[in-house]
Amino acid sequence: MCGVFGVFDHKSAAYMTYLGLHALQHRGQESAGLAVSDGYDINLKLGNGLVTKAIKEEDIKELKGDIAIGHVRYSTAGGSNPKNIQPFFAHFYGGSFAIAHNGNLVNADEIRLELEKGGAIFRSTSDTEVFIHLIAKSKEPPPSHIMLHKNDTEFIPLVFNAMRKVKGAYSLVILRERQLIAVRDPHGFRPLVLGKNRSGSYFVASETCALDIVDAEYLRDINPGEVLVIDDAGLRSYYPFEHTEEPAKCIFEYVYFARPDSMIFQDWVYSIRKEMGKNLAKEYRVDADCVVPVLDSGLLAAKGYSEESGIPLEIGLIRNHYVGRSFIQPTQDIRDLSVKLKLNPVRDVVEGKRLIVIDDSLVRGTTSKKIINMLKRAGAKEVHLLISSPPVVGPCYYGIDTPTREELIANRMSVEEIRRFIGADSLYYLSLEGMLNAANKFKQKGFCTACFTENYPVL
Ligand code: SF4
Repeated sequence: MCGVFGVFDHKSAAYMTYLGLHALQHRGQESAGLAVSDGYDINLKLGNGLVTKAIKEEDIKELKGDIAIGHVRYSTAGGSNPKNIQPFFAHFYGGSFAIAHNGNLVNADEIRLELEKGGAIFRSTSDTEVFIHLIAKSKEPPPSHIMLHKNDTEFIPLVFNAMRKVKGAYSLVILRERQLIAVRDPHGFRPLVLGKNRSGSYFVASETCALDIVDAEYLRDINPGEVLVIDDAGLRSYYPFEHTEEPAKCIFEYVYFARPDSMIFQDWVYSIRKEMGKNLAKEYRVDADCVVPVLDSGLLAAKGYSEESGIPLEIGLIRNHYVGRSFIQPTQDIRDLSVKLKLNPVRDVVEGKRLIVIDDSLVRGTTSKKIINMLKRAGAKEVHLLISSPPVVGPCYYGIDTPTREELIANRMSVEEIRRFIGADSLYYLSLEGMLNAANKFKQKGFCTACFTENYPVL
């Protein structure tokens, strides 16, 4: 759960990145950072909290340069230590670079131990720092099938070597003094897109909503296994892996995480999320007075359900937008507090009604229990909870903060036991086929579904 952004050749690179990070704020709210190059030096500004708190406008004025990268972070690996705020900066025999990472490496601990035994000293607890050490220590020549541009002969092979050692999910932006580099792991777990504005500046971002905010057009996705180099000589793509891997795009990005105004993995989040709601209505029809979304992420599935079933959509829960998303708050006590602060029933809509409440996922069950309790106290006659994804049974090792296996309610209880625990009149989850059909209806295939199936593509 992080967002990355990069810009090449823009006179207000720091400001563009600041805007891009605002658009990606939903991907991480614990910290934010910028790294900017003026062609000679790389300067950073890092801070805790939301982008507005972490980076001040006066900081941006000081960050001069036309190439920049940025990062918003939620601590999936390494905890919420301030030392883990990205981008990370490093200086080594080959020069300086900064790096920002979305994803999680599954073999980071192993590599780290090996590097530490060899004398490496780590300054953070983040898996991203492993990349820095691997890049700096790398000695192997580039793969023989690759012809390198003259600008790329020194640093880029080091990136290839690091990619060949790590396993897991990584969408990276790397800043060098005169280069922006975008990298995506061979399975393509996390999204990463390329855009360009009318003046010819290039942008790389986790989602297209961050291209919209800087007035850039979407050009294409960074492909799984691709290293895209952008510098004054133009754009160059390298594919350091000789074999292609099965794609494993995170289906959860469509279910919950990405913004609905984004296109990721070449399809619109809006359409797919709505289609999941339609499939839910095809699979499970309830006789009810209205469909109520758990805002914001349940809205489109509820709209799809309402359209397919003909049952009217009503906004029976109002969300306070000044409180962060409960699912991504780091500790249970903060999570408990923020559920109460976040949602309030509209008594006028729910009193005396039979409600179909639609949420995108049911992870721990604690939020759903509180919502159902609130709705019943506000006078709802029946509350049927419908979830637009299957039961979450396994943790994510690729960058989404699902809790441990023990904390996942679907691991401890049957659907009927969960229904009783949360106090719903009925509970239904979208089937795996229903979820995948919603995404496959459009262009894309090849998804990771491991948190629903425990079929992990990389371990
Ligand atoms: S395990 Fe789940 S959340 Fe993680 S990448 Fe796979 S589908 Fe996405």
